[in-house]
Amino acid sequence: MSTPDVPLIVGAGPVGLGAALFLADQEIPTRIVDQAAAPSTHSKALAINPRTLEILEPSGVTARLLELGRRIRGAKVWREGALAAEINFAALEHRYPFMLALSQATTERLIAEAVKQRGLRVERGVRLVECRNANSHVTAALAHSEDEFETVHCPWMLAADGAHSTARDRLNVPFPGSTLADPWHLADVPLATSLAEDYAHIVLVDGGFLFMMRVIEPADTDDTAVPLWRVLGNQPHPLTRLVADRVAGPPIWESHFRISHRIVRAMSVGRIHFAGDAAHLHSPMGARGMNLGLEDAWVFAQLAGRDALERYHAFRRPVDHRVVRRIDLLSRVVAGDPNLLGAVRRLVPALIRHTPFRANMLAQVTGLDHGLDSFAPTRRAAPADALVR
Ligand SMILES: Cc1cc2nc3c(=O)[nH]c(=O)nc-3n(C[C@H](O)[C@H](O)[C@H](O)COP(=O)(O)OP(=O)(O)OC[C@H]3O[C@@H](n4cnc5c(N)ncnc54)[C@H](O)[C@@H]3O)c2cc1C
Repeated sequence: MSTPDVPLIVGAGPVGLGAALFLADQEIPTRIVDQAAAPSTHSKALAINPRTLEILEPSGVTARLLELGRRIRGAKVWREGALAAEINFAALEHRYPFMLALSQATTERLIAEAVKQRGLRVERGVRLVECRNANSHVTAALAHSEDEFETVHCPWMLAADGAHSTARDRLNVPFPGSTLADPWHLADVPLATSLAEDYAHIVLVDGGFLFMMRVIEPADTDDTAVPLWRVLGNQPHPLTRLVADRVAGPPIWESHFRISHRIVRAMSVGRIHFAGDAAHLHSPMGARGMNLGLEDAWVFAQLAGRDALERYHAFRRPVDHRVVRRIDLLSRVVAGDPNLLGAVRRLVPALIRHTPFRANMLAQVTGLDHGLDSFAPTRRAAPADALVR
C-alpha cells in the first residue's frame, strides 16, 4: 500500500500537533500519525510560557489556553522554612507577563482541536518502523498492525516521536549528552498547603530540592476538593519531605524518571528533520521541554513556508543547544550535584536577588532568552536570507 506525496509528521504529542497546526496555517497540508491508540492523559508539562502563547496566538489556541489556564505570577525559593528569594514575572516587558498553568493533557487537547478544525485527522495506532532518505524524497514504513504495513513516499518527514525516537535510531543520529546519576520523583497529589497558588515554589532541602506547583486540570470541576499540587524532587518519596503541608489523599499520578541533558548532533538528515524531545532532552527545571519543542515546530513551519527547510538545522540547533546547556547547569546546582561546589548552591538565593542574574533567569524560564523577530508569519514567500538573524 502506498499513499500520495504529502509531508509526514510522526508523533502527535504537543510538538507534532503544533507542527501540523503551524504548517496548516502556512497552507502546507500534512499527514500526522501516532503509534498510541489515544492521547496521553498525564499532566506532565504544567506551565506554558509567554513565547508559546505568542506563537500560538494567530491560530486562536492562545485564547482558549487563557480561558482554561491560571496565571502564575512568579517563583519563590524557600530555605529552612523562610522565603529566600523571589522572581516576579510582572517585570517582563511582554503582552503575556506570566506563565500559564495548565496540564499538558489539556494543552495537547486544545492544539488537537485546532488541528481538527483545519480538516486534519491524527491517524492513531500507526507506528513508524523504518525511514530513509531517497534521492528526492523520504521513504517510510508505517505499521498499522502486527502484519499490515504501508510504504510512504513523502517530500520530507518531521520526526516528533519523542525521547526514544525511532527515526533518530533508524538514521543512527548521535544524541550526545549526559544523564544524572539518580532519578527524580514526582507526585500529583491533593495537598492542604498555605503556599500561594499563583506562584511556583522551589524548596531547598538537605541533599536537593522540592519543586511545588498547582496542577490545573479543567476537567476537575469540584471546587470543594482539596487542590491538586505537583511535588517533584530529586530524592525518593518527595511527599515525606514536606514540612508544613498536609497530603489530603492518594496521589493521582506518581512517576520517577532519569534526567538527561542531550541534543541531536543533526536536527536534519537529508529530508528528515527532528523536533521536540526527539531532538533535545533536559530536566523539567526551567519549564522549557514542551515549550521549546513547540517553538521548534513553529520555526520549522515558517521555514517550510519559505521553502527553506535546509536552514532548519543551522537556525535551530544553536538555540536548543544553549537552552539544554543552561538547564543542565541549573539542574545540577539546584539538585546539589556533588561535583559542583556546595557554595554555588548556597549562593542561589543571593544570586536571584542580584538584578542581572534574575533578569537572565526570567528570560530563560519564559522562553524570551532569544528573539524570533526575523520571522513574520504572513510573509510566505520571503527570501531565505531574511531568516538570518
Ligand atoms: C514529569 C514530566 C514533567 C514535565 N514538566 C515539564 C514542564 O514543566 N514544562 C515543559 O515545557 N515540559 C515539561 N516536560 C516535558 C514535556 O512533557 C515534553 O518535553 C513534551 O511532551 C515533548 O513533546 P513531544 O511532542 O516532543 O514528545 P512526546 O510528548 O513524547 O510525544 C511523542 C509522540 O510520538 C509518538 N511516537 C513515538 N514513537 C513513535 C513511532 N515510532 N511511530 C509513531 N508515533 C510514535 C508517541 O506515542 C507520542 O504521542 C515534562 C515531562 C515530564 C515527563
